[in-house]
Amino acid sequence: MSLFPRREPRSRPASRSRRRCRDCGGFIEARTPTTKYISTQAELLLDSEKAGNGDVREVKSMVDANRTFILGQCATCRAVADRAKHLVAEHEVFALRLGTLSYAEDLFTSGLLALDLLGVPAATADAAFTSAGAKKAVGLLVRGDVGLAHAGADARYLGRLYPIFTIRGQRQGGDGTRWSHLASAEVDAVREGYLAWQKLRVERTQPIPAPEGGCMFCGIGAVMGLASQGASIWGNERKIDSRTLGGPGLGTITGHLCPVCRKSVEMAGAFGAQTLTRALLDYVGYKRNVWAGYPEAEGLQAWAVTRRGRDGMANPTPWAHEKALAEARRWAASASKTAPGALVWDDEHGARPAVA
Ligand SMILES: [Zn+2]
Ligand SMILES: [Zn+2]
Repeated sequence: MSLFPRREPRSRPASRSRRRCRDCGGFIEARTPTTKYISTQAELLLDSEKAGNGDVREVKSMVDANRTFILGQCATCRAVADRAKHLVAEHEVFALRLGTLSYAEDLFTSGLLALDLLGVPAATADAAFTSAGAKKAVGLLVRGDVGLAHAGADARYLGRLYPIFTIRGQRQGGDGTRWSHLASAEVDAVREGYLAWQKLRVERTQPIPAPEGGCMFCGIGAVMGLASQGASIWGNERKIDSRTLGGPGLGTITGHLCPVCRKSVEMAGAFGAQTLTRALLDYVGYKRNVWAGYPEAEGLQAWAVTRRGRDGMANPTPWAHEKALAEARRWAASASKTAPGALVWDDEHGARPAVA
């Protein structure tokens, strides 16, 4: 079965009302509730011309018009909207981050309508939102750069209150079968969003190697990330004074930091003598005493000034090049729980009681 069935010419559904669905543009049943929409402007299609790159561009002009549209919602689109509501309720925290719940419902509806117009069965779509990767599938459904919900919103018949006249005086309304008002380029835009959604939601994490062999600090050679993230997971290129890295005064060293070491640097606020110590102690799980802060460790060396300079091989585990790693572990274990009942500082949660 194809998810993109060829659009077969269908006979016009029997309907006395000829009122349309505001989403798919199909005719609705006679007793369906309707809403009145008034369009004050209309778009006049004057001509179409071919641009240099071969794209066909439509030459349009806005004209004043005062037209009333009475639209309802067909049973299929109503079911789609209900499913969107359900999805929002299930992912309420995420939905609220998008704005209001009603905005989220509209956006989710557009995403599901996009799947519907491509012929993706409701059961297939819903399976994506209930399987292991559900959270990801939901997030990607409305993500701007994926474009599925936005293409779905553009495809809704309601958005067509403007382009009703063409130079030949024809209505661009379709024949009353669902989604028949769409031009093939509009369906292509939705399909593009769908393919991006499909690709990203099944994407698994994989090791992404460091651009220069290893993290400048801890020397780890790869971190787990999505292929689509690529090397961006390693952040921006950095130029660090070699003395800050525990090296001799060799000037500046260029490289990248892994996300874990980068977090330590961000928490420290600036590069300094203690930054390297801090990254190592964060790695071994030091919960710093609120009043004590980070100690100054002498003689620590970053991977960038030791292994990288020697054989360029990445460390098999973070900080494996550093002789003081075991000592740092022991120190952190005892320093984190000095004075039972003392407060320790946790960068994510703030001050909290030290737990032995
Ligand atoms: Zn509909
Ligand atoms: Zn690192």
